[in-house]
Amino acid sequence: ETHTTDFTVDDEVIKKIFRPRNEYSHKGSFGKVGIVGGSYGKIGAAVLSVKAALKSGAGLVFAYSPKCGYDILQTSSPEAMFMEGGKDYIENIDIDKDIVLGIGPGLGTHQKTEESLIRFLKNYSAPLVLDADALNIISKDPSYVDLVPESSIITPHPKEFERLFGKTKDSFERSDLAVQKAIEHKIYIVLKDHHTQVVTPEGNVFYNITGNSGLAKGGSGDILTGILTSLLAQGYSPENAAVLGVWLHGKSADFAAEKHSKESMQPSDVIKELETIFLYIN
Ligand code: AMP
Ligand code: MG
Repeated sequence: ETHTTDFTVDDEVIKKIFRPRNEYSHKGSFGKVGIVGGSYGKIGAAVLSVKAALKSGAGLVFAYSPKCGYDILQTSSPEAMFMEGGKDYIENIDIDKDIVLGIGPGLGTHQKTEESLIRFLKNYSAPLVLDADALNIISKDPSYVDLVPESSIITPHPKEFERLFGKTKDSFERSDLAVQKAIEHKIYIVLKDHHTQVVTPEGNVFYNITGNSGLAKGGSGDILTGILTSLLAQGYSPENAAVLGVWLHGKSADFAAEKHSKESMQPSDVIKELETIFLYIN
C-alpha cells in the first residue's frame, strides 16, 4: 500500500499556502502565463482559461492560439497578448522558456495538433499544466504520458482519467490508481469530481470540499486550468498551486451559486467571483 497521508483542505490550510502580493513589485514579479489552446469552434475555452489566469494574479498572460481566434481573444481579453500557432487549430508550439504553460482548453485533437504537442513535449522539461484535449492527445499512446515533465499538474475529469490510465470500478479505485500513477510519473494529478482530489508524487491526497453542481457545465474546467497556470507562474510550488487553485475555483463557484443559483450561474460568473475570494483570503 503506497497511500501515505490524506488531508482535507480547509481555510487553515489555505491561509498557510496563500501569499499576499508584495507591494514592491512589477509585472515581472508575478510571472508569465501562456495558455495554449483553442481551435475553430472552441476558442471560447481558451478565452475562459485566459480570463481566469488574468483574474488570479498573473503578471502577463499570453494566448497561444490559432489565427481564427485572434479577434475573439484580443477583443474579449485586451490584457492578454496573442501568439499565433496555426490557422484553424494549433500546428506548432514554439514559446519562450520563461512562460509557464497551461495546455489543452479547446485545443482539439487534429493530427497536426497532436504531432505539434508531442514534438513540443519531447523537448520540454519544466512543470506545466495539461488539461482537456492535451490529455486526450497523450491518451492516444501509452508512451506519451512519459513525456509529461516531472512535477507537472494534470487535471483529468473522470472520463479523461479513464482514457489516460484505464477503467476503475468506482471512485475509490480511481483514487488509488491516481496515487499509483502520480508516484510513477512524478506528477500532480488533480482528479476532478464533486470533491476534487489533488494527488501528489509522494502519494499524498488533498481533498477539496469547495465547489458545487453549478460547476457541472462546459467551460468550468477551462477556468481551473487558467487559475492553476497563473498560480504556478507566480511562483507557487506545483503542490500549493494545485491545492490553492482547486479551492479557489470551488469557493468562487460557491459564491456564484449564492448570487445566481446553481442552475443559472455560468463559468464566467466563477471567473468574476474570484475577486470576492481574493478579498476574503487577503
Ligand atoms: P471539466 O469537466 O473539465 O469542465 O471540469 C469540470 C470542473 O467542475 C471540475 O473542476 C470539477 O471538479 C467541477 N465540477 C463538475 N461537476 C461538479 C459537481 N457536481 N460538484 C462540484 N464540482 C463539480
Ligand atoms: Mg475540461
